[in-house]
Amino acid sequence: MCNAHKKRLEHEAIENTESKDKGFRVITLEKNILEANEVVAEKNRKRFQEHGVCVLNLISSPGSGKTSLLVKTLEKLKHEFNCAVIEGDQQTSNDAQRIAKTGVPVVQINTNGGCHLNASQVNIAINDLPMDELDLIFIENVGNLVCPAAFDLGEQEKIVIMSVTEGEDKPIKYPLAFNLAKLMVITKTDLLPHLHFDLVQCKNYARKINPDIMILETSVFKETGMESWLNALRTRVKIIKNTN
Ligand code: MG
Ligand code: ZN
Repeated sequence: MCNAHKKRLEHEAIENTESKDKGFRVITLEKNILEANEVVAEKNRKRFQEHGVCVLNLISSPGSGKTSLLVKTLEKLKHEFNCAVIEGDQQTSNDAQRIAKTGVPVVQINTNGGCHLNASQVNIAINDLPMDELDLIFIENVGNLVCPAAFDLGEQEKIVIMSVTEGEDKPIKYPLAFNLAKLMVITKTDLLPHLHFDLVQCKNYARKINPDIMILETSVFKETGMESWLNALRTRVKIIKNTN
């Protein structure tokens, strides 16, 4: 699937430490793709700033509970802020349909097998959103912890989400996503009694990769940790409003 991007990350690491001829062509190609993406991401960022809208890029593996968290979040926040969702999926519009039921505007991007969203796709998607009215846009990236982390969409912040049904070593296996995110949301904590998930170890791994990362523990099912999560979102919207 994301071999090209995995390679890019590996090769970049190699490039930083040693031999520059090893895999040189791969590095060049991937750098060009990312540089072109960066140009559009900057345009997006400008547009978001002009409209004073806070944009959050949600990154996780498939099945982390991103959409469930979003639906619950929108139910709570939609009366406070004008929210919208850009929904990235490889196939199907199932998640977009779930979001649409909350009454919040949603734009679906089908990547047709592509394993991440890029800035151009988001640039097109925002044409379908009432940008002047919005306070907060969630971008639900394609379920994948590898390349979505490498593609800037012009967002204010990346948020990394992982569930307790995954391996607690995800942060050290996919360090880029955990390194770039300021906030990590652990989901499905109601399942902890049934699992051998080492929560303390997971948080230690995340802090090893990113000592300043803020970590929230949530359960949509039990509605625990939701107020801290909502407050984290409120703070982010306020920061954007105050700088505008
Ligand atoms: Mg989803
Ligand atoms: Zn990808």
